[in-house]
Amino acid sequence: MISVLCLRFLLPGLLLSNCLFMQGCSTPNPYYNPNRAHHRPDGFVNSDGSVISKSLPDLIRWYRERFGLSLPPPPGESYASYAAFPQQAFNKAQLPRNVRSVTWLGHATVLLKLQHITVLTDPHFSERAFPVQWAGPQRKVKAPAQVADLPPIDVVVLSHNHYDHTDKTTLLELANAQPHTLFLVPLGLEKTLQDWGIDRVKALDWWNTIELANTELTLVPAHHWSARSFFDRNTTLWGGWVVKEPGFSFFFSGDTGYSQDFQEIGRRLGPFNLSAIAVGAYEPRWFMKAQHINPEEAVRVHQEVGSALSIGVHWGTFELTDEALDKPVEDLKKAKAKLGVADSAFRLLAQGQTVALGP
Ligand code: ZN
Ligand code: ZN
Repeated sequence: MISVLCLRFLLPGLLLSNCLFMQGCSTPNPYYNPNRAHHRPDGFVNSDGSVISKSLPDLIRWYRERFGLSLPPPPGESYASYAAFPQQAFNKAQLPRNVRSVTWLGHATVLLKLQHITVLTDPHFSERAFPVQWAGPQRKVKAPAQVADLPPIDVVVLSHNHYDHTDKTTLLELANAQPHTLFLVPLGLEKTLQDWGIDRVKALDWWNTIELANTELTLVPAHHWSARSFFDRNTTLWGGWVVKEPGFSFFFSGDTGYSQDFQEIGRRLGPFNLSAIAVGAYEPRWFMKAQHINPEEAVRVHQEVGSALSIGVHWGTFELTDEALDKPVEDLKKAKAKLGVADSAFRLLAQGQTVALGP
């Protein structure tokens, strides 16, 4: 019984929490370059040199609060129930022709149809964000698409190796269904995909760019961490992505805490016509702030990178943290009002919803 409880509740928390006792083994970092500030001989750190770690007492405090107060509460501030979350049927035949478009496919999965290529971020259509499908965070709103529903995908970009972003089942299905798809990943994550049998993978370091079909794709810093087990903490890199084609540029935040990285991204690669910025999984702040921005910080990111239009992602799908699944709706509204950002400039879409972006 204890072991089942441990697997169902404690393990997911451990994998989400980056507790200090989950020290990575000290395998050497094959990419280590002493001239790059975020490289370490055994892995990677954030651009400010920090490593996101929580002590075991912090983890226990989070768990006591979480279970003692039955967190997260059910939705209710904006939507009456999980079933009331807005959803639209996704049909690739109805994607706008001859114009760029963006579609939110749940959690951090964004389908971006540009003039030259079609890009998919962090594809995840499985029922759970966990190594097994009988434990771990379960999808509260049905995935609006499956791999078979996708249009031809030229490039998949992965932000980092956490289970809610790098989903083995979805990636394998996609690689098998669409063998021409290229997978771009942060340094080190290519080995995971190659171990699964996915060969069309290229790994990038922060600020590295790959060019294909008149499009530039650049991995940019994020303030986060990586792990898929208790033994590989921060041995692979994490980040966000910038995609640029003539006349259009897109920024994807990945998972991130707030940092100076966004001013730098704005300065070096901005402004952006469109951004997909994480707005969920942010409470309690004392535990989550370093690794996940809240809606107010997301609006600051939107401002600092110079985004004309942003959509919120990483919300409304899996309950990873202590806020209700619909809390980002209200919190984002308040943040836009507080920071003087037009309501229409930072939108939350329905899962499956497509927005045409003009020619
Ligand atoms: Zn993450
Ligand atoms: Zn995440």
